[in-house]
Amino acid sequence: MAMADADDHGMIKRSVEELRQTFKSYKTRSIDWRKAQLRSILRFLSENEDTLFQLLESELGKHPVESYRDEIGVVKKSVDHALSCIDQWVSPKKGRLPLLFFPASGKVLPEPLGVVLIIGSWNFPLTVTLDPLIGAISAGNTVVLKPSELVPKCSSFLAKMLPVYLDSKAIKVIEGGREVTTQLLEYKWDKIFFTGSRNVAKIVLSAAAKHLTPVTLELGGKCPAIFDSLPNSDMKHLESHIGYNWTISPLRIYGVPKVAIKRIIGGKWGPCSGQACIGIDYLLVEQKFASSLIEQLKKTIKRFYGDDVRNLKNLAKIVNRTHFDRLRNLLEDPAVANCIVYGGSIDEANLIIEPTILLDPPLDAEIMNEEIFGPLLPIITLDNIKESIEFINSKPKPLAVYAFTKNENFKKQILAETSSGSVTFNDTMVQFVCDDLPFGGVGQSGFGRYHGKYSFDTFSHEKAVLERSFYFELEPRHPPWNNFKLEF
Ligand code: NAD
Repeated sequence: MAMADADDHGMIKRSVEELRQTFKSYKTRSIDWRKAQLRSILRFLSENEDTLFQLLESELGKHPVESYRDEIGVVKKSVDHALSCIDQWVSPKKGRLPLLFFPASGKVLPEPLGVVLIIGSWNFPLTVTLDPLIGAISAGNTVVLKPSELVPKCSSFLAKMLPVYLDSKAIKVIEGGREVTTQLLEYKWDKIFFTGSRNVAKIVLSAAAKHLTPVTLELGGKCPAIFDSLPNSDMKHLESHIGYNWTISPLRIYGVPKVAIKRIIGGKWGPCSGQACIGIDYLLVEQKFASSLIEQLKKTIKRFYGDDVRNLKNLAKIVNRTHFDRLRNLLEDPAVANCIVYGGSIDEANLIIEPTILLDPPLDAEIMNEEIFGPLLPIITLDNIKESIEFINSKPKPLAVYAFTKNENFKKQILAETSSGSVTFNDTMVQFVCDDLPFGGVGQSGFGRYHGKYSFDTFSHEKAVLERSFYFELEPRHPPWNNFKLEF
């Protein structure tokens, strides 16, 4: 186990040296070693599940169901997937060669990068650290894991327990905040995998540039959700497909299916009370549907969480006072405060902010220009839902775009005319747990990707291997040159 404070340069140096020695020993190249480490992550999660639930509840207010759904269950699923695919991932892939080189063979051989640094954020203390770790181990690297200091109990639990389960000569947890990360970034890594904010990403990137270290940046941004109206006829259609029992509601005449409402709420308040990189940041809807949509959101929010800020159920808390104050300031902006149509109450002592909906806050307000990362949902009304494309394109490329629509042409238009890390139609968040879909940003929302095989690739170098025989030689490739060779 490795603990560091600001002046513990020596410990970091020794840790990095030990990891480099371990990597040089070729131990981590063994597939059996990799599988053993992956199985140990499963054991760590299973044997410590109750403690992990307690820690996530105490630091983030996550209900155990949420913790399992978004963290423990996600990581277990990723380990299972890696274990079932690793033999295939590590095997060389045949590469086709030009006939000109016959006889010859070509292949692409994945090799580990070396000693890698994984820096995590706080909102999913297990997922954003262990999920990349699975990729790094599967690919045969040695690793330093740096969890976020904003969830100190989770961080120290990982630092204390991972060495009990994992090979501590190959995988180390180094705890600390800005000072420790700054020290870590001085070293030469073979890869840095960073999850966090844009501002810190710039620091990471410039530190990596000094050593030409490749970097993956998993950042955030303002993820929009487009809410198109669904025609009445689709209600029955959807009903037969998803087996949902419709209840009579005023919304029914607009064709707004309740399942969409639940999924929007799930994408906004479900993951860590909106403190999620792929959570919905704002919602775009046609003016004529806004009031019905808001009514329906209100009802379901009350059912999911209650409406007494001092007694809200199933809602995570804001991670700390700084973030709480940041969110409160967004709400207290006088230009924004009178746009609140639901919620807005706070429980300062417990760092809880009620699910809050704002209708048409000014577009130049901070809430519409900074990543919200909290339980506030601005709804922006448009005359025509097609304007949502221009709206999204007026902002930096988001990590995710969500669109609730049955209109195939509109879907094509969204795909063709917007750019984002991912697009999910008619649901939210679920793209995160699909191992065969790459997860990552584009533009300001980051670069690089992971999950499933993409994680393995992120921590591997694909070495091109070509082998020729000594038979046959194409003489025109060698001097002396002459016009005949030029024409050949
Ligand atoms: P952050 O950038 O403040 O911190 C991330 C990590 O960087 C932490 O481990 C922290 O110790 C370290 N750090 C902080 N300041 C530093 C500095 N000056 N120098 C060096 N290291 C420093 O981000 P955060 O608050 O932990 O996370 C929130 C951000 O992360 C949001 O923007 C969110 O969208 C993003 N995020 C992205 C994903 C994703 O998968 N794309 C997942 C979760 C969070």
